[in-house]
Amino acid sequence: MRFRSRLVVDLNILAQNVSHLRELFPSQEILFMVKADAYGHGVLPIVRYCVENLNIREYGCATIGEAISLRENLSDLEFEVYVFSDVQIELKDCTEIYLQRRIIPVLSNFSDLEYMLSHSDLKNFPLCLKFNTGMNRLGLDYEKVDEVIELIKKYQHRKIFHLMTHFSSSSHSMNSNKRNIEQRERFAALKEKIKAAGIEIERTSLSNSGAIEQGVGKEETHIRPGLLLYGPSCLVAPLRGISQWKGRVISQLESYIINVFPVTKGQPIGYGASPVAEAGVIAIVAIGYGDGFPTRFAGATLHHKGYSGKVVGRVNMDMAQVWFPTEALDDIVVGDKFIIWNHSQSSVLNLSDETQTLTYELFCQLTPRVPRIHQV
Ligand SMILES: *Cc1c(COP(=O)(O)O)cnc(C)c1O
Repeated sequence: MRFRSRLVVDLNILAQNVSHLRELFPSQEILFMVKADAYGHGVLPIVRYCVENLNIREYGCATIGEAISLRENLSDLEFEVYVFSDVQIELKDCTEIYLQRRIIPVLSNFSDLEYMLSHSDLKNFPLCLKFNTGMNRLGLDYEKVDEVIELIKKYQHRKIFHLMTHFSSSSHSMNSNKRNIEQRERFAALKEKIKAAGIEIERTSLSNSGAIEQGVGKEETHIRPGLLLYGPSCLVAPLRGISQWKGRVISQLESYIINVFPVTKGQPIGYGASPVAEAGVIAIVAIGYGDGFPTRFAGATLHHKGYSGKVVGRVNMDMAQVWFPTEALDDIVVGDKFIIWNHSQSSVLNLSDETQTLTYELFCQLTPRVPRIHQV
């Protein structure tokens, strides 16, 4: 069967990215963030491959539904799974699910913490706390750490299993951005305070991709990479030069050409009859917003057989028009495979920069119509 468009995921490249990351952080364990279907790359084959071949033992989801799906579909594998944001710990059904399926909720507020500590069934469950050190989204208030310590002691707990915080601005400089400096200092102070109160901390983590790329997080036991293991740097463009990350994009987004024809300057094309700016060749590519190739990609540069083309006119649900210069006419052929991004970081970063779309979103917006094909 021939697919209109497909995302080919090369698991060997993922393995290389993991090795590269381990060279950069030899003493840290990887808690691999696989929320949102592994950033659009197909979570089940990715986690299976990572557990079976790469010895990654810990995974991060956003919702309890995602975690349940991992447990149900990968029940033959040994791994730990955390739920970061949509925790719903207080719901009776969920409490049982956490217990029975060994899913670790990341606690981000006082009432969830108190519920967990006071609930007799949950008493021996690992205590995983995320503090807000300046992100101001979720998290226990770092200024109220004394109250947290008091509560933990009140229920006779002596140990925090995993203490975390999350950066608001890790795509910016870790050494000069004020927020980053502040969050790093606050997290260090938090650890000291908790330890000084006689509470043991087994694991700690604060770095996501942007921080990892800048070598930050080596005092902690864990790192929490998402985006960079899928390939791209997540630093803002002016900082990419200082990134230590040399990974490759694990996916290639492919479609194919279903029509080719020459156009004259001003000729109207497709829906909305947008006139082309210059004479050339139009390739109709079998990908559109129904696949996760949105209308805002109009104007983006794409390449084919060494020619540089531009998405012109309005992107349709099922197709897009790509303009090429006239000399490409004989080389652009109906049935050609057409690559939107390949394994080089620059192909994804350029598309992201040109279309003002986060790399995260480029991946996540791909729809179920695009099959994810995993190759080793
Ligand atoms: C998503 C997420 C990460 C990973 O972020 P990246 O920028 O993709 O590396 C790490 N920690 C938490 C708490 C997250 O929600």
